[in-house]
This record gives sequence, structure tokens and C-alpha cells, in this order.
Amino acid sequence: MQKWIVANWKMNGSKNLLNEYKNAFKSIENLIVCPPFIYLEESADLIFGAQNVNQLAKGACTGEISVQMLVEREVKYCLVGHSERRQQFHETNNIVRSKAEACLGANITPIICIGETLEQYEANQTTEVLERQLAECSPSESGFWIAYEPVWAIGTGKTPTTDEISAVHFMLRKKLPNTTLLYGGSVNDDNAATIIAIPNVDGVLVGGASLDVAAVAVILKHAR
Ligand code: PEP
Repeated sequence: MQKWIVANWKMNGSKNLLNEYKNAFKSIENLIVCPPFIYLEESADLIFGAQNVNQLAKGACTGEISVQMLVEREVKYCLVGHSERRQQFHETNNIVRSKAEACLGANITPIICIGETLEQYEANQTTEVLERQLAECSPSESGFWIAYEPVWAIGTGKTPTTDEISAVHFMLRKKLPNTTLLYGGSVNDDNAATIIAIPNVDGVLVGGASLDVAAVAVILKHAR
């Protein structure tokens, strides 16, 4: 079975990168591209996801985007609760759940990001932290995806061991048998083959390496 690659450009990229993606990855069915809002297109060439959405339907929220606006752009997926949003924009588990519910209500698949900090990892609290995040962020309705992203692995070049990722994904699979489960955190063209092959990992969420089209092409090869 093909595994998913979700490319999170964060606040990076350009029209040029978008064109490179269109040329290199036209009609690839297991690649979801999450560029900044301004680059989301109604395009049959790529599957688009957003990096964020507001939980409210409309109103006085300068700078925000609603789910209906994403629907108008034919966006099919949306990251919610990325650790950068939690840390920099103070998003709580409650807000993350509201965003996920708003997405499901608009037929957009929310990709809910959960993960422990370095301090929690070092204190052996990973399972406890993830269980709490899951309980507090998950909508009652099914249809969401989960991305396990240890905060200490994002953008650092460090990853958990294969056994650690495997143990977390086994725990997640037991709780969510029919949910798509991604791993994210310093995935690149060198380590993707190993991580993608871990049982219960249905795909990877790739940040920094997704800005390099050649690296994404290699990661995609390992995902088939
Ligand atoms: C991310 O942004 O979700 C991410 C996993 O980043 P990176 O691959 O750069 O660690």
C-alpha cells in the first residue's frame, strides 16, 4: 500500500517552488502539499492542504482564514495543532479540537499534530502526554488523521529511534484502528525509507526537506 507524504512548507516557498512541485509531482496521489495560504490553488495537478484554519465560521478575526474559504479553494486537508502554532500562537488542545471539528464539518480532513517536548521525553512522559493530547484534541466524529511529531525532533535533525516510533504508533493504532497515522520530525531523503517502513506508520509529515524537490522525489520513491 502507498504511504502518504505531507509536505509542510511552513512560512517558506514561493511561486517558483509551487511551479517546481507542479512540474515534478503532477497527479501524484499520495502527496499532499501544505504551502502558505497564498499559494493554495484550485488545481487538479496537486493535492493541497492548509497549514492552519480558524475555528470560527466568520467574523472579526483579522488575518485569519475560515474552513469555507478553504472549501472554495478545494482544499482537502488541513494541519491543526502543529507544535509551532501551539508554541507561537498559544493554541490549546481545546482550540485544536475546535479547529478539527470545523474541518470535519466542511469535509476537510484535519491532520491533528501531537507530540511531546524534550523535557517530557527525557522524563519518560511521552505516552502520558500523547494520551492527554489525543483525549483533548480528538473530535467525537471520525475522519481525522493524527501526526505524531515529537517537538524535539522538529527541525533539529534528531529523530526518535525506530523502536520508539514503533512503540508510539502501536499505542496510537490500538486506540485508533482506522485512523491514518503519520510520523513527522526531521524526516529527510536519508531516513525516510527506514521511517516509512515502521509498522503502523501510514506516512510522513515533512517540513524542511519538503523545500527540496529532489529530496521529496526520493521520499516519494520510498513511499510506493
Ligand atoms: C514539520 O514542520 O511538521 C516538520 C516535521 O518539520 P521538519 O521535517 O523540518 O522537522
